Amino acid sequence: MRIVILGAAESGVGAAILAQQKGHDVFVSDMGQIKAGYKSTLEAHHIDWEEGRHTEAKILNADEVIKSPGIPETAPMVVKLKSQGTPIISDIEFAARYTQAKMVCITGSNGKTTTTSLIYHILKKAGFNVGLAGNIGRSFALQVAEAQHDCYVIELSSFQLDNMYRFRANVAVLLNITPDHLDRYDFCMQNYVDAKMRITQNQTAADTFIYWNEDEYIGHELAKHPVESYVCAFSDAPATAMAAYPDGDVFRVVSPKAFEMPLKNLSLPGKHNLRNALAAAMACLAAGASDDAVREGLSDFPGVEHRLERVCDVAGVHYVNDSKATNVDACYCAMESMTTPVVLIIGGRDKGNDYAAIRPIVKEKCRAIVYLGADNAKLHANFDDLGLPVADTHSMADCVKACAQLAQAGDTVLLSPCCASFDLFNNMEDRGEQFKARVREML
Ligand code: ADP
Repeated sequence: MRIVILGAAESGVGAAILAQQKGHDVFVSDMGQIKAGYKSTLEAHHIDWEEGRHTEAKILNADEVIKSPGIPETAPMVVKLKSQGTPIISDIEFAARYTQAKMVCITGSNGKTTTTSLIYHILKKAGFNVGLAGNIGRSFALQVAEAQHDCYVIELSSFQLDNMYRFRANVAVLLNITPDHLDRYDFCMQNYVDAKMRITQNQTAADTFIYWNEDEYIGHELAKHPVESYVCAFSDAPATAMAAYPDGDVFRVVSPKAFEMPLKNLSLPGKHNLRNALAAAMACLAAGASDDAVREGLSDFPGVEHRLERVCDVAGVHYVNDSKATNVDACYCAMESMTTPVVLIIGGRDKGNDYAAIRPIVKEKCRAIVYLGADNAKLHANFDDLGLPVADTHSMADCVKACAQLAQAGDTVLLSPCCASFDLFNNMEDRGEQFKARVREML
């Protein structure tokens, strides 16, 4: 079979190696420049590739195309392939054909990386031979080609789910659905909801589906299209028919298996992380992890970099890096988890933010606000009238200096910017790294 792979990064190159190993005729094409490391990997495997173009003669003759999730459905080559009826699949769909391993899959608008990493952490502790894949970790296809895992924990974006058809998740977790990426779904929320619900497709009665009860969409979808799998809903409060919830001081799971531990032993702070922990505990118990592994994993999970990450204390002030909070909702969750007065750092490339949702919590919990962006005018307009001290900064060095001046011992300086980072930084990781470096310089 001729397999053409569009997009040559982690997922595409991994898929190419697996496809070649399985005896297919493989060609890799990327419209942009391919990173040197990936080029040499393709060369080493004698896989034919091109960059900076899509050569029709080498692509339209494919029997099947594996598309990187970053390439939109509207890309001209994708449109052409679709119009001639060539099947287009994701790397996850492709690789799953070649493994019998158990699949634990996580999707949602927010919390995917945290929950996926937490599940992986617990399953490793439980002694599983487990791989971490999807949007994080190494390519799933490459692991199928080169490692022999019995179980995979896979973070799935809606874009990956769009091109999955036969794939079956043994344990599927759907954390939440809130408006996101609508530009790629014809600005139609239902299209995005449909993509997320695809995580349940092909599940059988032997599989488990875990979801957040209070979500605005998921319950309605299940009522419209009941699933075959064993359904477990987690909730923010105790209620009958709920499979997991906080119950006073107790973290309680009822099904798929009874389990409890003290709430105070959870390592991750915040209400949103409690939801992630409930989902993770149910998923791990469904996958067969021992109670001890779940208990230990939930209490010693160190968290994921750039997500409410504790940096260090300087002069009695706690510094927390939540650079991943690139929308207002994420900043709200972070603020909600704060237990001390806060000096909040916000700003960056604004994506049409409506700050009304965080004004009350900012007023309630903040000692001061530090604006960090190329252009802070919108922040001044939205927050200055709260009457809190504010500082206007345009570099991380000045920002951290201002925070140190405004914070008092016992406070928390929280970088949770509500905005994308591209105005002053390469990406959100760069922003978080620079923050940590400047903070540590003060030690
Ligand atoms: P994703 O991989 O889906 O982007 P992350 O785990 O990287 O999610 O978390 C991104 C941000 O979303 C975090 O900084 C946090 O503030 C927020 N978040 C995490 N979990 C949840 C949740 N269950 N519900 C709402 N927001 C969340």
